[in-house]
Amino acid sequence: MKNHDVLPTLSGMTLQELQGVALDMGLPKFTGKQLAQWLYAKQVTAIDEMTNLSKEARTRLAGKFQLGRRPALRRWVSRDGTVKYLFPTQSGHQVESVFIPTEERGTLCVSSQVGCRMGCQFCMTGRQGLQAQLTAADILNQIYSLPEFSRLTNVVFMGQGEPFDNLDAVLRACEILTSPYGLAWSPKRITVSTVGHQKGLRRFLNESQCNVAISLHFAIPEERAQWMPAQKAWPIEKTVQMLKEYDFCREDEETGGHLGAKQRRLSFEYIVFKDLNDSRKHSDSIVRLLQGLDCRVNLIPFHSIPDSPFRAAPEVKMKMMRDYLTQHGLFSMLRASRGEDIMAACGLLSTLEDKA
Ligand code: SF4
Repeated sequence: MKNHDVLPTLSGMTLQELQGVALDMGLPKFTGKQLAQWLYAKQVTAIDEMTNLSKEARTRLAGKFQLGRRPALRRWVSRDGTVKYLFPTQSGHQVESVFIPTEERGTLCVSSQVGCRMGCQFCMTGRQGLQAQLTAADILNQIYSLPEFSRLTNVVFMGQGEPFDNLDAVLRACEILTSPYGLAWSPKRITVSTVGHQKGLRRFLNESQCNVAISLHFAIPEERAQWMPAQKAWPIEKTVQMLKEYDFCREDEETGGHLGAKQRRLSFEYIVFKDLNDSRKHSDSIVRLLQGLDCRVNLIPFHSIPDSPFRAAPEVKMKMMRDYLTQHGLFSMLRASRGEDIMAACGLLSTLEDKA
């Protein structure tokens, strides 16, 4: 008997790949489109629910593939309405996703890796190290198996992992979410964050129209290198220079249309730490670094993690920083803190203990 979990997944396949599956099984090519509709538009949870395929075709399909949907193993609800989920992955690991509802939006923060190898000193995921890559099916499962799926308006890749360290899977998931054969979302509803993985960033800018968020946190290179080892491999000054030189208005090679800069939002995430990066000198360093770039800066409150020397900056300092940046031409916002009581806030995700 076959172990069901080792079968390849249908979820995560592009339309072209699903058409290939259909042809390989002796089914007409248009069955590939039907498969995409069942998987991505109708969100079935079992191959047997694909009722416009013959019973025989469904049985043969189920003998060769698994659908790739796995319900959450655990759910935590914060007093502020934020909900954290623990999802199983194809490789037998677990990852966390966080649903953040507001009056106007339902945002899901998804993970792209089990753990992370970037080693940011202030992050629980960084302490975990990299344990496994997620497949596109694992990424999509966090979205499609979300009980609040019908309330979703936005997806942000800001959970566990560095998305550009698992770029193929992330690009594939973004394609399926934004393609007419998939969920047909506008790319403006998706934001992918990075510490500044330059090769990945360049490829992502060329192959996707989704928003990009750079995890800045320190704008003085020596300080950034001290707390974020990735600075040594990908200096933030070079990342920003690359963004300044990038032609956001280039022509789309296929359509000849313009891939307008207004389409894609570029933001910089900045966790504000007490006495480490919250002074006027630090505000000045942000202004100097980002001058001339069409972007926004999100200031994020820090949440203490166990055995850590980092502390949150007082709100008054964060407001001063926001006002200073705005006065100097950088659109800046204070981001609200959500889900701290269930360890769902920024930098608090970890599945290390869940592996026991
Ligand atoms: S902050 Fe992001 S990039 Fe840094 S260790 Fe945590 S998950 Fe990885």
